[in-house]
Amino acid sequence: MKLHEYQSKQIFSRYGIPIPKGRVASTAQEAKQIAEELGGKVVIKSQVLVGGRGKAGGIRLAKNPTEAEEVATQILSMEIKGLPVRKVLVDEAANISSEIYLGITNDRAARKPVIMASSSGGVDIEEVAQVSPEKIIKVHVDPLLGLRDYQARDVAAGIDLPREHWKSFISITHGLWKVYTECDATLAEINPLVITAENQLIALDGKMIIDDNALFRHPEFSEMRDLDAEAPSEIEARKYGLSYIKLDGDIGCMVNGAGLAMTTMDIIKLFGGNPANFLDIGGGANADKVAAAFRIILSDPNVKAVLLNVFGGITRCDEVAHGIVAAMQEVKPKVPLVVRLVGTNAEEGREILSNAQMITAETLVDAAQKAVAASKGELQ
Ligand code: GDP
Ligand code: MN
Repeated sequence: MKLHEYQSKQIFSRYGIPIPKGRVASTAQEAKQIAEELGGKVVIKSQVLVGGRGKAGGIRLAKNPTEAEEVATQILSMEIKGLPVRKVLVDEAANISSEIYLGITNDRAARKPVIMASSSGGVDIEEVAQVSPEKIIKVHVDPLLGLRDYQARDVAAGIDLPREHWKSFISITHGLWKVYTECDATLAEINPLVITAENQLIALDGKMIIDDNALFRHPEFSEMRDLDAEAPSEIEARKYGLSYIKLDGDIGCMVNGAGLAMTTMDIIKLFGGNPANFLDIGGGANADKVAAAFRIILSDPNVKAVLLNVFGGITRCDEVAHGIVAAMQEVKPKVPLVVRLVGTNAEEGREILSNAQMITAETLVDAAQKAVAASKGELQ
């Protein structure tokens, strides 16, 4: 789950990381009022869950409350990368003298969290990583020992931070580490962490991603969830406990088990096709859940064919078949459906499906080849 900038910065602030004074607004009038309270120059920042808002025109300065109202009106009517702007953050404007990147995420290969920092902050860190990777310093942290002081100093030295800022930088790094661990984040990022003209370090931007598997112990985050900003299909999938990720191909995949789902996607690609999604219906899925999964896949207009690949273990093939039949009566799919059922109650499952219009396959290779052909209109 992604948090908005204003939510991330509020959390940062609770952990002692300095942030600009400011508040979030849903209307231009509110934005004007906040600007009046703050006095002086403000920055109006669109709150959408994508990066690169600055480049897209979603971050603008305003000299006075009247201008703040005008700018907020414009930004609140914008769409950034397909997401409508519903809120703006009105912050005291900062006088930037330089911009630093500071972030913590999981390094899966190292099996440890990693602190990353760069003196080339402000811009996309992915771009820095590509163009000049030597400008990014990485320090791995042992999760059992936690962040040690010398490691925070290594980061400061690694980005050639002037000595006068070390004390503040080290305290911010410790704060961000606490944010990362205590909130069960998979990403906690400040970009930019700026040095102001007044020689202060301050977190101008904030980004956090919380591990969905830990949400049960953070009820406060569930309240922060911004449903408006998520794909409707993913919200629906979560409601039914399905692991669903929309992709940009055209073969809808319905599979039980994450490993089998990955394999199915790989083999589709091997035969020249493109998966439209990752979907794991999970072990022991009942007919209701299967029907929901089927509806979600078919609601994607890019889907030209569906591949159902079920290896019945705990999941029973007859339950899956019942779910498919129920969903087909409801949604009436217009695209070909390729089915491979193997394992527990596969025979019963095939019988239930024998009346429905679908293409059956014996092996995974057979199923993938048929699905790819069907997606290209070569098989009906
Ligand atoms: P992002 O583009 O979505 O990452 O949004 P950021 O919050 O990182 O803002 C992008 C850029 O806008 C920053 O790197 C700054 O250069 C600039 N910016 C943001 N806030 C201020 C501010 O208060 N004053 C000034 N002068 N520039 C700002
Ligand atoms: Mn940023």
